[in-house]
Amino acid sequence: MKEFGYQRASDVSGALALLGADAGARFLGGGTNLVDLMKAGVERPSRLVDVRGLPLDRIEPTADGGLRIGATVTNSDLAAHPGVRSRYPALAQAVLAGASGQLRNMATVGGNLLQRTRCGYFTDVSRPCNKRVPGSGCPAVEGEHRNHAILGASAHCVAVHPSDMAVALTAFDAVVSYRTGDGPGELPLADLYLPVDGTPHRETALPQGALITAVTLPPAPVAALSRYRKVRERASYAFAIGSVAAALDVRDGVIREARLAFGAVASRPWRARAAERTLTGAPAGGETFAAAADAELAAARPLPHNAYKVTLMRNLVVAVLTGLTEEAAR
Ligand SMILES: Cc1cc2nc3c(=O)[nH]c(=O)nc-3n(C[C@H](O)[C@H](O)[C@H](O)COP(=O)(O)OP(=O)(O)OC[C@H]3O[C@@H](n4cnc5c(N)ncnc54)[C@H](O)[C@@H]3O)c2cc1C
Ligand code: SF4
Repeated sequence: MKEFGYQRASDVSGALALLGADAGARFLGGGTNLVDLMKAGVERPSRLVDVRGLPLDRIEPTADGGLRIGATVTNSDLAAHPGVRSRYPALAQAVLAGASGQLRNMATVGGNLLQRTRCGYFTDVSRPCNKRVPGSGCPAVEGEHRNHAILGASAHCVAVHPSDMAVALTAFDAVVSYRTGDGPGELPLADLYLPVDGTPHRETALPQGALITAVTLPPAPVAALSRYRKVRERASYAFAIGSVAAALDVRDGVIREARLAFGAVASRPWRARAAERTLTGAPAGGETFAAAADAELAAARPLPHNAYKVTLMRNLVVAVLTGLTEEAAR
């Protein structure tokens, strides 16, 4: 492992100054992803600026009835927060579906959003990978891609984003706040991750050196009836091979509002807008749910070994929406 410096920041301006002073510096949250990648030689920072001491560890109500979640809130504290559990239950479920208790105690909201893909070629420095070494190729397209993307991928990269939390945040229109030396900025989470094109090493629209300070959830009454369901190869401690965050407002058997986002199928959390359009105004029931899944998955371009994900996601959408409809009727 390359030798590196370590500094703790106690305020946001200090963190930005420390980062700005060293072109090879990186922010350190819980370190549960970055440090692993340093051990593997994938990341080689010259200095780590630890952000866990910053005053960004609170979850507060916003004036309009939403929630503002500080970037250093741990995954455990986020999942346990009463306002999250009651008003955005799919978010609490998504966080609890990820990693393990020990990891969630360390992992932060900012770090979770910026964790890197688990593609095995990306984490193996002896292999080519366009995301790690631009222009070196993508062996996953012809190689091991069982867990890779079926939506929105390109021939340059077919990796998926691994975060569970980000899927629920996407369904609820979360907004990411950040700071750079030039001042504060905001990005809808839907615009945080760049589409995959010829430059898969460019992953987010954040300006260089930006510090994520918070994630804001706008008020969303529909989110009170929401669920996150994750399919994985083991019951715990495993990344998703497909997941769904969903919320429904059903009245008199008709869907008034629907929110739907997919995980582990694309390079970013996938907001299922075509499915939402199919659901809105339609009768709640299996036929509508299957039609909604089909509308979204019509864009799927699976590879030879991951076509199973199309069926998996269709079944998952129908199961989650059926469960929510039954819950609404109680
Ligand atoms: C065994 C294992 C199993 C896991 N299973 C799952 C799973 O099932 N589902 C899931 O979603 N995740 C899973 N994870 C991933 C885990 O959730 C992430 O590692 C964690 O959320 C990252 O948060 P962190 O604070 O530790 O980030 P770090 O590792 O500290 O940082 C990650 C990245 O974010 C950057 N960063 C951190 N904070 C900020 C900030 N405030 N502003 C700007 N940049 C920042 C860092 O520079 C780095 O690039 C698993 C991890 C492990 C090791
Ligand atoms: S899928 Fe992306 S991350 Fe994986 S090898 Fe190809 S370029 Fe690298």
